[in-house]
Amino acid sequence: MMHMKKTLLFLILLHGIVMSQISTSDFYNDYEKYKDNNISNRRFGHEVIEKLVEKLSLSDKVVIKKQGESLNGDSIYLISIGTGERSVLCWSQMHGDESTATMALFDIFNFLIADDRYNDFREELFNNVTLHFVPMLNPDGAEMFKRRNALDIDLNRDAARQQMPESKILAHLQDSLKPEYGFNLHDQSTYYTAGRSDASAMLSFLAPAFNFEKDMNAVREKTMEITGYIYNELQPYIPGHIGRYNDDYEPRAFGDYMIAHGTASTLVESGGWKDDEEKQFIRKMNFVTLLSGFNSISTEKHRGMGTDMYWSIPENERNLFDLVIREVYVEYRGNKYIIDIGIKRNEENTSDYKSKFYRGKIEDIGDLSIFHGYDELNGEGLTIKKGKVYPENFATLADLKKIDYISLLKDGYTTVVCDSLPDGEYVNLPLNVTRKKDELQGNIELDDDANLLLYNGEKLKYVIVNGFLFDLGTNKLNIYNGIIYK
Ligand SMILES: [Zn+2]
Repeated sequence: MMHMKKTLLFLILLHGIVMSQISTSDFYNDYEKYKDNNISNRRFGHEVIEKLVEKLSLSDKVVIKKQGESLNGDSIYLISIGTGERSVLCWSQMHGDESTATMALFDIFNFLIADDRYNDFREELFNNVTLHFVPMLNPDGAEMFKRRNALDIDLNRDAARQQMPESKILAHLQDSLKPEYGFNLHDQSTYYTAGRSDASAMLSFLAPAFNFEKDMNAVREKTMEITGYIYNELQPYIPGHIGRYNDDYEPRAFGDYMIAHGTASTLVESGGWKDDEEKQFIRKMNFVTLLSGFNSISTEKHRGMGTDMYWSIPENERNLFDLVIREVYVEYRGNKYIIDIGIKRNEENTSDYKSKFYRGKIEDIGDLSIFHGYDELNGEGLTIKKGKVYPENFATLADLKKIDYISLLKDGYTTVVCDSLPDGEYVNLPLNVTRKKDELQGNIELDDDANLLLYNGEKLKYVIVNGFLFDLGTNKLNIYNGIIYK
């Protein structure tokens, strides 16, 4: 008898220990088990959501309700899990080209409906909290991978007027569910740093203002507490890579609307991470962000921690380029000057909106010492010139594909002439193509396409094609695409 009691006590203790041991590091370490491999890049349409929602409806843990339709008639769903008193509303992709969090939401659904060592954690979570999700609030924008909806209205400037069906759905959910917490899930430019450092703001957080005076109230304070808590939890994995978004009041935006209406809603902006073009690591950190937040909402760890942690998040600065060339010589009317060059590889949609190409531009010239690059090249002692056009014509693109690109690049040719050019704006070649053979020589100018040569004396060392750097010393070619000049 005595022995049995001891065993029972031991089991209860063990049970308790297992539950309280679940922490942010578990979400981080076990992520791959829950990653939804039906989505692997940022461009996916509403049909993908339909399929995944249908699959999700097979789980008896989940309640799925159609909330309405977009302007073009695509269904917008609310997915609810849990029965707890505290409620959370998460909505993603109100901007159609901001899909990182939508990917993460489907990973989170996989986590929430699984049957594994997190069962106790889930039971506790679902007892304390009801989780509500709207994945892809703007399916019409997502279809064309553009920010705005089908009528080109920015839904995040429709919170006051509430004219669009998508905005009405979100406002109605706030009003009917009265969620205590919210997560407003977006993507921001990849060119933000966290503070003045060179670290890209992989994530930015904001506890929005509810008036122009940026006053504090209990709802905003609670938002700062949960946001500060999550920030602190994520630091070990992406130290220095989280920024604080500008808190100017915007009465037409939903984050501000939510705070004003009693929902402690955190803005989460997915930014940039080096060599993560499809934002798959950022997706993972969205998974960690939200589960860490849910965990704390369930156990109220963040309550009473105050706002200092939140205010310690460094403010965003738009200080990044894709590539910065430092301190190269440029020649002008017989004199030499030292300049830095900042290059951005601007991403554009292919005509079917399902893929991307890049257009590399010179975005700044001069002293760029306060700025940073995802890639940087120390150009001290080197002289920069424009890329050259190959003197012989090719009849078609097929003829061009027979040649040795590297040998052309090694001679400083970044563009070739092709008599018959394909449709579209880009080629899957490490060179640009053009129809007319005008001399592209002359001065390097702002807003030029970034086709450049870097010489050490007479010797060519680096070639930049469409913003992509090719180091002739390595033979490693990673030029994503060239541009068609018509
Ligand atoms: Zn957005």
